[in-house]
Amino acid sequence: MSDCLFCRIVAGEIPATLVRESERTMAFRDIAPQAPTHVLVVPKDHYPDVAALSAQPALLAELVEQAHQVAADEGLGERGYRLVFNTGADAGQTVFHAHAHVLGGRALGHLA
Ligand code: 5GP
Ligand code: ZN
Repeated sequence: MSDCLFCRIVAGEIPATLVRESERTMAFRDIAPQAPTHVLVVPKDHYPDVAALSAQPALLAELVEQAHQVAADEGLGERGYRLVFNTGADAGQTVFHAHAHVLGGRALGHLA
């Protein structure tokens, strides 16, 4: 059993509210939403952060496309949304399995 939280969610060992799935990604709602829409999009395989994921450009593109589809499905296609990859300590990354935050549904300010 992996000790990575998001690997365990991908494996179905920890419940999450799934909103979208593609061949190599999963999207589920953040447990502590910071905006009306707050969805996390993760690669099913483990990469510690987006820098590591960037070694797989096709997978990174799939993840960004899925994030956009999540936003569109949430009705944010017109009004917009924010895509965030926290990377490392100063950004406050707490889960070291690469993930994009899809945030929207309210005015987010210049920086979140
Ligand atoms: P980070 O701070 O690493 O960029 O983002 C980690 C995110 O994972 C946080 O927004 C946090 O609320 C979310 N999170 C932490 N534990 C869980 C969990 O068990 N389930 C879900 N769905 N989200 C979680
Ligand atoms: Zn993982």
